[in-house]
Amino acid sequence: MFSFRSIPEYQNELLNGTTSCVEAVEFFLRRIEERKNLNAFTAVYAPEALDQAKALDAQRKAGHPMGKFHGVVVAIKDVICYKGHAVTAASHILEGFTSTYNATAVQHLLDEQAIIIGACNCDEFAMGSSNENSAYGPTRNAANEAYVPGGSSGGSAVAVQAGMCMVSLGSDTGGSVRQPADFCGIVGLKPTYGRVSRYGLIAYGSSFDQIGVFATNITDTALTLEVIAGADAFDSTVASVPVPAYSKECAAPAGPMRIAYFEDALHHPGLDAEMAATITGYIDTLRSKGHTVEPVSFGLMDYIVPTYYVLTTAEASSNLSRYDGVRYGYRHPERGSDLTEFYKENRSHGFGKEVQRRILLGTFVLSAGYFDAYFTKAQKVRRKLAEKTQEIFKQYDAIILPTVPTTAFKIGEKMEDPIAMYLADIYTVYANLVGIPGISLPLFTHSNGLPFGLQVMSNQFSEVSLLRLSQQLLAQ
Ligand code: GLN
Repeated sequence: MFSFRSIPEYQNELLNGTTSCVEAVEFFLRRIEERKNLNAFTAVYAPEALDQAKALDAQRKAGHPMGKFHGVVVAIKDVICYKGHAVTAASHILEGFTSTYNATAVQHLLDEQAIIIGACNCDEFAMGSSNENSAYGPTRNAANEAYVPGGSSGGSAVAVQAGMCMVSLGSDTGGSVRQPADFCGIVGLKPTYGRVSRYGLIAYGSSFDQIGVFATNITDTALTLEVIAGADAFDSTVASVPVPAYSKECAAPAGPMRIAYFEDALHHPGLDAEMAATITGYIDTLRSKGHTVEPVSFGLMDYIVPTYYVLTTAEASSNLSRYDGVRYGYRHPERGSDLTEFYKENRSHGFGKEVQRRILLGTFVLSAGYFDAYFTKAQKVRRKLAEKTQEIFKQYDAIILPTVPTTAFKIGEKMEDPIAMYLADIYTVYANLVGIPGISLPLFTHSNGLPFGLQVMSNQFSEVSLLRLSQQLLAQ
């Protein structure tokens, strides 16, 4: 009977012949079928994944060298292009659209012999924190099916949480990997902005978006990052910083680190009291491991969420203007009387409520009369946040924060209150505003029975020390 623990263990079993890629794919396809009610996938590539598994088994048996991701069964968020497959962004507006090329991250996976098993449900255009804004219905949290898995990469999180694949890719503009990882009790990593190419990732907020990784352990997280990261001629914002061997590097000892926590974040009125107490208590655990942990007064907590929502909606309103029903995607049967009416019909019927809200907000903050009052001001605050962050990293190697202020909430509970939903992004959007990497580590269980994580962040391009510390913290 197949069971999965980690990629290195699986690949050893492939080498010594105790399992095969076909056995692995059959196992995960069965799980996907059994847990269909979770609604984690928008498409499952069953025959294709099996064919790929057969081909890999044959190649390995014939003595061909194994790629780094040989036989690894991966699921990808349905905002990442996979040539010849539908990409929907969980939106009606992309109905009938098929990717004509591979995202660079997908190309890297395939080059290293991954098996892509399916596309995962998410919030429409990655806008949301609960996976409820999907044209394909909500995904359910496998820890308790009445609860949301978080969002926007909820399907990718649940696919790993419920054992329907080995690792998965999500995208994180303001927490969409770390927040669902927190709600589902798994690891979720958002790399440094520019570490992974955005080519082939459907754009939401281009100066924030980053492809991230869900896994059950740090070694698999590190290996996935190692495979997907690196320079790319197709994305001018991706860094040419060399890609370390994250999977080997993360096994080295973390060494004593200087860790900061934001006092104003831990005392924030929105943070669940039990979670605040647990994380405060955990500071002593960190100290007992030889780390120096000190409070820092951040002072800018209340500016984080507004700045994020001004800037991302502005970028989104521009990025989403390409969906007009002319070149591709949904075209409403009512054509309207002129071109403006024609666009209006397509976009009003093609986009869901939350996406429309954000396009309107983004258009407003960019409009002539309000540009300086909102957009320019938010850019200035973003700069201030970056400066403050660099000051902190002069003295500290890492920052810890909660990932989310509460555990997962019930499906439907926050749908009528978008402001409450936005405010809950307070701890995650910070890393995207300043471009640093962040990871959510599944360390805790609340007395309500639901998991929650600790968020750890480090300076730009210092994923190695972030992963080492994470490995140490999850080891016990
Ligand atoms: N919840 C945040 C938002 O709705 C983050 C989404 C994301 O990271 N894609 O914008």
